[in-house]
Amino acid sequence: MARYEGPVCRHCRREGVKLFLKGEKCFTKCTLDRRAMPPGMHTQVRRRKVSDYGIQLRAKQRARRIYFLLEGQFRLYFNRASKMAGVTGLNLLRLLETRLDNVVYRVGFAASRRDARQLVSHRHVTVNGRIVNVPSYAVRIGDVIAVKEKSKEVDRIKNALDAGEQRTVSPWLTLDKEQMTAKVVAQPGRDDMDQTIQEQLIVEFYSR
Ligand code: SF4
Repeated sequence: MARYEGPVCRHCRREGVKLFLKGEKCFTKCTLDRRAMPPGMHTQVRRRKVSDYGIQLRAKQRARRIYFLLEGQFRLYFNRASKMAGVTGLNLLRLLETRLDNVVYRVGFAASRRDARQLVSHRHVTVNGRIVNVPSYAVRIGDVIAVKEKSKEVDRIKNALDAGEQRTVSPWLTLDKEQMTAKVVAQPGRDDMDQTIQEQLIVEFYSR
């Protein structure tokens, strides 16, 4: 599957906000603190008034970058969300939020979603006792997500769990830190998701 391998801090610079794609570094040596301007040449040039299209595009790009997805992957999620019953915007966020890599990040097994994706791909994570190496795997209520027995001593996982001590686990998940297991106990609600995402603008963008 295609994946983005370029510099990631440029995403934060483009959106003008911290997207926390690099884990610990985002709290200690954030690039955005030193270079707050957008990436690329001529970024000091004064910007023109942003059109409605531009506002919708930025909202879509920000959400896509928060979940660290390529355009094609994000578009597929939108298509699926629009065919589901209910509100498309909320459906979209639920599909994104229940990705296995996002859950691994949310419960603190990884310092960022990017790290979480690598942990899953490198077979460190099990779902209901079986190794799952597909980051896009959709978790369901009742699923138990765990760090594989042999991986419980991996430093980056232990460090992420320790560093995430202050972080509150979303109410739709429970965490047993000692056992390094987590359980999905509910559907994620809108309040449990990133409040900076403007899903209505994303729907408008794809509905043009
Ligand atoms: Fe974004 Fe983290 Fe890079 Fe800061 S260090 S710009 S928050 S990815």
